[in-house]
Amino acid sequence: MTPIAELLIRRIQATGPITLADYMAECLLHPEYGYYSTRDPFGAAGDFTTAPEISQMFGELLGLCLAQTWLDQGAPARFTLAELGPGRGTLMADVLRATKRVAGFHAAAQVLLVEASATLRARQRATLGDYPVQWADQLTLGETPLYLLANEFFDALPIRQFTRHGQGWEETLIGVTNHRLSLGKSPPSQISPLDHRLADTKPGDIVEICPAAAPIMQTIAAQIETHGGAALILDYGDWTSRGDTFQALKAHSFTDPIAQPGEADLTAHVDFAALAAACTSHAYTTQGQLLTALGIHQRAVQLGLKLTGDALVQHNAATHRLTAPEEMGRLFKALAITPSHAPKPPGFA
Ligand code: SAH
Repeated sequence: MTPIAELLIRRIQATGPITLADYMAECLLHPEYGYYSTRDPFGAAGDFTTAPEISQMFGELLGLCLAQTWLDQGAPARFTLAELGPGRGTLMADVLRATKRVAGFHAAAQVLLVEASATLRARQRATLGDYPVQWADQLTLGETPLYLLANEFFDALPIRQFTRHGQGWEETLIGVTNHRLSLGKSPPSQISPLDHRLADTKPGDIVEICPAAAPIMQTIAAQIETHGGAALILDYGDWTSRGDTFQALKAHSFTDPIAQPGEADLTAHVDFAALAAACTSHAYTTQGQLLTALGIHQRAVQLGLKLTGDALVQHNAATHRLTAPEEMGRLFKALAITPSHAPKPPGFA
């Protein structure tokens, strides 16, 4: 049994079943035993691979997209360049390399990395060398424009899951049966954040909400509307939450999310309508369409000229994996937040 399983069993026996949100928060970010607190989970030797780890083109194109948006807004002389959940720091490193020759961009940018895991902060420091960056547990901002990136961050935030029952909802809970964690359901009740979902669901349908996302999105939206800037948020998910998407990944395979708490990555699909709800001006597309519009295929040809053999085969496979509808191109979505008076970022026509 994992240390987190023991902790949770004691807690549930003392105070009763817990929500999936409580479970995810403990498994992912417990300071001593949490999944992200104890490891670098990325890459072939880890549990999952993210877009910036697949190809440098991902960060280059998003970096140039943000830099063009900065130019379109009059190139403000000071701004926060923030990333939520930067993992290994690869995306920010690619953004910084690609924007080096955008005159004034680096001089104006103050890089802020929002990262909960001390292990991953150390990894980000190593990736970014001596480039000046600050870390924070939360998005704390001054009175400057905000240009923000978040890739596969919101899927890691804790969710609550509900099954429609009549005009109410039963919540998925984790309890203890025979000294092991087990899944169960609460009695049905009214859940006011789900009132609007009574219109597009029927009894038996499952929906999920991510309570932690709303305050973060309100901070981002208010900062961008008041001071300028843009946010680019990429993740797997859909415009509305539907179905059971609570999942665990271990060594690149799906596993039972309650079997090894703290040892497997836990995520849920992102509800993009819920993220956009706080924002007056937003645009939404698929990752495949966005990267294609930003010129990934032209960039891939250019980079490919320097490659031969296995390296060229891998490079072409990476482009396909990021963009093809049957790979990441359609499941992964992109949401852009801009001030209501400003043009949309490139690629979000
Ligand atoms: N963006 C990276 C990593 C995605 S994994 C990439 O694309 O490769 C999720 C990241 O978010 C990890 O760095 C994890 O430690 C961080 N994270 C998860 N929950 C967090 C929270 N509540 N606050 C801050 N960082 C968090």
